[in-house]
Amino acid sequence: MRDQVKDTSLIEIKSVSRLFPKGSGEDLVVLEKVDLTIRAGEIVGLLGRSGSGKSTLLRIIAGLVSPSSGEARCRGEIIAGPPRGVAMVFQSFALFPWLTVLQNVELGLEALGIEAGERRKRALAAIDLIGLDGFESAFPKELSGGMRQRVGFARALVVHPDLLLMDEPFSALDVLTAETLRTDLVDLWTDGRLPIKSVLMVTHNIEEAVLMCDRILVFSSNPGRVAAEFKVDLPHPRNRLDAAFRQLVDSLYARMTQRPEPKLPSTASAGVGMVLSHVSSNSISGLIETLAGEPYNGHADLPVLAGHLQLEVDEIFPLAEALQLLRFAQLSEGDLTLTEAGQRFAHLETDERKKLFAQHLIENVPLMGLIRRVLDDRPSHAAPAARFRIELEDYMSEHYADETLHTIVSWGRYAELFAYDEQSETFSLENPH
Ligand code: ADP
Ligand code: MG
Repeated sequence: MRDQVKDTSLIEIKSVSRLFPKGSGEDLVVLEKVDLTIRAGEIVGLLGRSGSGKSTLLRIIAGLVSPSSGEARCRGEIIAGPPRGVAMVFQSFALFPWLTVLQNVELGLEALGIEAGERRKRALAAIDLIGLDGFESAFPKELSGGMRQRVGFARALVVHPDLLLMDEPFSALDVLTAETLRTDLVDLWTDGRLPIKSVLMVTHNIEEAVLMCDRILVFSSNPGRVAAEFKVDLPHPRNRLDAAFRQLVDSLYARMTQRPEPKLPSTASAGVGMVLSHVSSNSISGLIETLAGEPYNGHADLPVLAGHLQLEVDEIFPLAEALQLLRFAQLSEGDLTLTEAGQRFAHLETDERKKLFAQHLIENVPLMGLIRRVLDDRPSHAAPAARFRIELEDYMSEHYADETLHTIVSWGRYAELFAYDEQSETFSLENPH
């Protein structure tokens, strides 16, 4: 009687953290004190933005990466190396090009020491189940992306895993193919035809999570941790246009656009250490114009806007946040509203726009202020990018420092606040006003 509940939990992650060493000698905290339980009979979604540590967590569960601290258990046992009964489907089709579909699928069983006849039987059954009938002897290069990903599914399913891990399995597919694969998978799941007990799926696509999952864990970034949990009680097959479906999508958008706790521990100069996601000045102008025009008239629901512009979460969030950072719009509860300056921007000619953009850049982006000060102060009116990269790396990983510099260069050029020479990686005041 005592451990009834415990018996049904397949995976138990307790206070798991993971660090990676950074160039500077400090550590990058990718996961911090993550708790997560996966029970039999559920599809769990891990929803978060790129770089939030979702793949790292999945790899910990798959036994491919070890936690820096905390405990990861599978069926009560500490995970050390790939656990029995856990299979993974990757984003891209990790197939062997020189093997046929059937051979690719059978491969998973060889490692388990299953004899040839049984292997063949199970592989054919998995191929049949996942809709690859007739393609047994085809080679991967003869298949479309969707068919290749089906082989990836068959290869994971053929071992009859208790837990299927999926890392953005639909994100490399075109929209229609992805939707077909999602619904096929959900149908098989609800019919009880999949030889698995649970699924843990990583995604950055909110609608995909609501369409497929029983439970959605929202992952926050920097460091990654479980910030919220949403239950999805809608029956399958789910309808994206259903009011309850839309409402849940809205709530998830709102939760994901909530201002995170301040990322950086330091106080005084934290502003300079702000990560600037790369968003082009063209996209910024385009979004402001779209928002200012019909039917939005300055105010939009983010999911609606994303649907209209066909942008994914990973594209619309950084854009909306750039508008907010530059005070051209206000982001709250998943709604984006143009500020007075944003409205003005939408109706200005190019030259006037650049001036307004420059003013907002200087006022709201501390790194831009710093670059201008350094350039103004130096007799040469020039400074190497390295001067700023070093400073940024006090706050962020090399990767984010590069992205931040790349962003500031493109914004600064558009605003004509400085010139930048790619060859010598030097900022200067050569042409700008
Ligand atoms: P997600 O899947 O949510 O996009 P990842 O788990 O792939 O996120 O990565 C999270 C962060 O961890 C990223 O900043 C990435 O650069 C970093 N990271 C992942 N693996 C390693 C590694 N082996 N060494 C150093 N940094 C890593
Ligand atoms: Mg990932």
